[in-house]
Amino acid sequence: MNSDCLFCRIIAGEIPADVVSETEHTIAFRDINPQAEVHILVVPRLHEPDIASLAAADADVTIALLAETRRVAEAESGGQYRLVFNTGEAAGQMVFHVHGHVLGGQIHDRLPS
Ligand code: AMP
Ligand code: ZN
Repeated sequence: MNSDCLFCRIIAGEIPADVVSETEHTIAFRDINPQAEVHILVVPRLHEPDIASLAAADADVTIALLAETRRVAEAESGGQYRLVFNTGEAAGQMVFHVHGHVLGGQIHDRLPS
């Protein structure tokens, strides 16, 4: 628990969130500023700044995060979704507690392809 971290404070119940699932290793809640019809953040309870740091720190939690992402996306978006892990300020990361953005349904932007 990092008391300066917004998502640690949501995990601790200090800040309310629209929670869609909780597991031993994860919590998932709706993004406060949705960029798609379905926009859910899937977050490990373990505080690591980004997905690569998490993978280096704890393989079990990384797998649990991906497994829960799949379950949430199946339940909320029929298993059709974009999964985004912004990494670094220059890439648009604002909250430095790793989180996967599950974007489904009508998505408001298009990434370059
Ligand atoms: P990122 O830019 O990848 O760090 O994404 C951070 C995301 O957190 C943004 O999409 C924000 O809209 C979202 N966010 C910020 N504060 C909250 C909050 N209190 N509850 C839910 N989502 C939030
Ligand atoms: Zn944190």
